[in-house]
Amino acid sequence: MIRRTTLSLLLLTAVALVYGFITVIILPGQTAEAAGGKVTDPLGVAPQRYAYFPGTEELGRDEIRLIACGTGMPSARRSQAATCFLVELGNGDKLLFDIGSGSHANLQGLMIPADFLTKIFLTHLHTDHWGDLTSLWAGGWTAGRTGPLQVWGPSGAREDMGTAYAVKNMLKAYNWDYMTRAAIINPAPGEIKVTEFDYKGVNEVIYQENGVTIRSWPAIHAGDGPISFSLEWNGYKVVIGGDTAPNKWFLEYAKDADLAVHEAFMTSKTFVEKYGQPPQLAARINLTFHTSAQAFGKIMSTVRPRHAVAYHFFNDEDTRYQVYEGIRETYDGPLSMADDNMVWNITRDKITERMVISPDDAWDVPGPNRPLPPDRSRKSEYTKFTLEGRFDTSDVDGVWLKSFMEEYGLTEEDLKGGE
Ligand SMILES: [Zn+2]
Ligand SMILES: [Zn+2]
Repeated sequence: MIRRTTLSLLLLTAVALVYGFITVIILPGQTAEAAGGKVTDPLGVAPQRYAYFPGTEELGRDEIRLIACGTGMPSARRSQAATCFLVELGNGDKLLFDIGSGSHANLQGLMIPADFLTKIFLTHLHTDHWGDLTSLWAGGWTAGRTGPLQVWGPSGAREDMGTAYAVKNMLKAYNWDYMTRAAIINPAPGEIKVTEFDYKGVNEVIYQENGVTIRSWPAIHAGDGPISFSLEWNGYKVVIGGDTAPNKWFLEYAKDADLAVHEAFMTSKTFVEKYGQPPQLAARINLTFHTSAQAFGKIMSTVRPRHAVAYHFFNDEDTRYQVYEGIRETYDGPLSMADDNMVWNITRDKITERMVISPDDAWDVPGPNRPLPPDRSRKSEYTKFTLEGRFDTSDVDGVWLKSFMEEYGLTEEDLKGGE
């Protein structure tokens, strides 16, 4: 048996040499992910194992891709947006878990048509977990989304602390944005449908569609309302933990997770020395409404997921190792220290961690649906007062407009609507 294997390897190498290149020979026990492979031909192509270039890999029918579009803190910084995880399933579903401030830009870098990004699940209503809902709402609308957004989020202890109240009043605050876009583009994508579920629900199903079951359980964070989610599909289980102090529900219901995401906060010392917070608050942060690195490790040692993901810390050279070492005091299993644009592919036999390489200058990508025509029944949001201030440039605009209308077959009627 050994002889036959050796002979085959020799033959394979000989064949490869004849063709002028050496392919990467994977021996039993090795995995292709462990190495990028050699490039021996100056005209050759480098095998790419470390990076994910959005839009270049088909997702397997039995595979999950999870992308961190935000992993940081409420304080804005260019290198790390606030919490957002995109779950892509082999059945075609794309589900967003939180959409914290700044994360929409990372999401846009993935160049996914707006019509595929309509379902958002919120763990709680701090801005670092839903601050960019406005950006996705308006940006997706101008990008050609053809229907409403759908948001699932927890209730609160009072009506004014729940997701329905938050989204309804967000839309009220953005009334001018809504009314003007509705008049000019089309009102349908400006709607947000909210499904508010009971924050007290313990492992209760809050969503079931297309073979996907999402459950929630309570979290302990700053007040009543926050929750964590689990997603089950095709025999897989992915857990997205919202902000929380260590809680008994996570220990019980995150069990059997293929991948479990949970917050791990920076050390209290870091909060004093780099964040400028008083020591009293810095200690309480890690004890009462967030989770310390050591506690994260203890939680994962109990849950024992196939792969654990820590997030919600500034992932800098001088802060990540303190969090990492704290976790390693209490957990020795597979671990990712999440950063923005980290991507995990989950299959039956392996979970890989890579980084997304996406353009800073991403444009909206058209999807399968034609953008909606303007709703001509809507009234203009101008009054005569503003319109009378118009400076006539029709002589110069008429030049480019004539050829533009010819090129795209437009009529005078096409130029009317809302303005
Ligand atoms: Zn929070
Ligand atoms: Zn947070």
